[in-house]
Amino acid sequence: MPHQWDITLQDLPDRGCSWDVVLPCDVMRDRHVDHVEAIDDLRADVPWRGSVCRRGDCYHLTGHWQARIRRRCCRCLEPFDWKVEGDVRRDFQLEDTQEGAADDVLMPPGQLSLVDLLREEIWLTWQGDVACSEQCAGLCSGCGCNLNNESCRCCKADDDHPFAALRQLKLKD
Ligand SMILES: [Zn+2]
Ligand SMILES: [Zn+2]
Repeated sequence: MPHQWDITLQDLPDRGCSWDVVLPCDVMRDRHVDHVEAIDDLRADVPWRGSVCRRGDCYHLTGHWQARIRRRCCRCLEPFDWKVEGDVRRDFQLEDTQEGAADDVLMPPGQLSLVDLLREEIWLTWQGDVACSEQCAGLCSGCGCNLNNESCRCCKADDDHPFAALRQLKLKD
């Protein structure tokens, strides 16, 4: 399926090429578009700009993107919009043989999809545990209440519990 987000490296003009696009959320989430695993929980269109130029046998690509993805906070377990961005620096080469080919070696004519490339970069930047904010207080380990918006009674009640000091220690490590 030919589409507007493909670049053919072999046809690259001498001055290279650049793009400044906003990839629609629907396209990035659509598993029928291109090959890299779709970003299911993407919440907004993705600004994505970059350029690629040729130096000898090497196609040098740089760029920048910003995304907003629905995630669950690792502390309070509430869903939130994870804002993430990244700089891209990749070198591609064209080679007829797949033998010993590195990841960024493409078969001529070197078809590059800006959708797949962006998805790859998002997955590479993915972090397993993300918090809704630096200040997120998380859940009480005693009663399980959300300490961001509920005041917990179990913690206050046992401040003079013999093990209260011990819990303080534990929290610090
Ligand atoms: Zn949180
Ligand atoms: Zn509690």
